Amino acid sequence: MADQPLRLLILGAHPDDAEFHCGGLAAIYRSLGHAVKIVSVTNGECGHHEQVGPPLTQRRRQEAAAAARVIGAEAEVWDFPDGRLQPTLELRYRIIREIRSFAPDLVLTHRNNDYHPDHRAVGDCVRDASYMVTVPALVQDVPILRRDPVVAFMPDLFTKPYPLQADVLVDVTRQFDTVVEMLACHRSQVFEWLPFNRNETADVPLGDAGRKHWLRDKLAARFQQVAERYRQHAIAYYGEAASRIQFVEPYEVSEYASPLTPELRKKLFPFAP
Ligand SMILES: [Zn+2]
Repeated sequence: MADQPLRLLILGAHPDDAEFHCGGLAAIYRSLGHAVKIVSVTNGECGHHEQVGPPLTQRRRQEAAAAARVIGAEAEVWDFPDGRLQPTLELRYRIIREIRSFAPDLVLTHRNNDYHPDHRAVGDCVRDASYMVTVPALVQDVPILRRDPVVAFMPDLFTKPYPLQADVLVDVTRQFDTVVEMLACHRSQVFEWLPFNRNETADVPLGDAGRKHWLRDKLAARFQQVAERYRQHAIAYYGEAASRIQFVEPYEVSEYASPLTPELRKKLFPFAP
């Protein structure tokens, strides 16, 4: 463990993105005593087929807070509109303010090639904020950082124009149940909206225990896909131990922020060779 607690800032588009995409790494950071802040840039108002407006956004705030509590992270849901987020200067400046004031060692966000326009908008703004967090003439109301944090892209399975490059591969097998616990807090999503959207509503069990079991199986299948994609990387990384690894989270480091030097790799990812 590092001498001083590290600071991890996750900038996702929706209130459940951090849990879906980097819940394992967030859980590891908290278990090591590091500070984790999960930001949802949008209010999540498009994430339901029956509920709309303030009742839904309020519900999603509560779900995000409950999920963060599972690992003792801080959660914040911003008010940008869900489903129509644009990579505006307003959003870029808000992200510059957030990165400067939280002063993270590591920032996680979406990649710029992603199916969801909101994800792309957040990824674009984080990319465009990266160097600017060190420029005092811009966003003068918050003091600059003297150095960029490391910025990394959360796992995804998109392949065009290229698949995510696994610069860091984190074994999250032991964190899997925690990720399930976190995601189960997003009831409006994992048991209502997403099954509706995927024509799976009839598959969702009625009782709490059955639902969690069902969710666990769904997530295991998804995590399995990622693990298979990066199996060869895992063997190269972990050698013999790779055979015991069930689930991994690959991260690609942005070349527009601080490079992941060997020293920084040792500091930020001592648990991933
Ligand atoms: Zn999302």
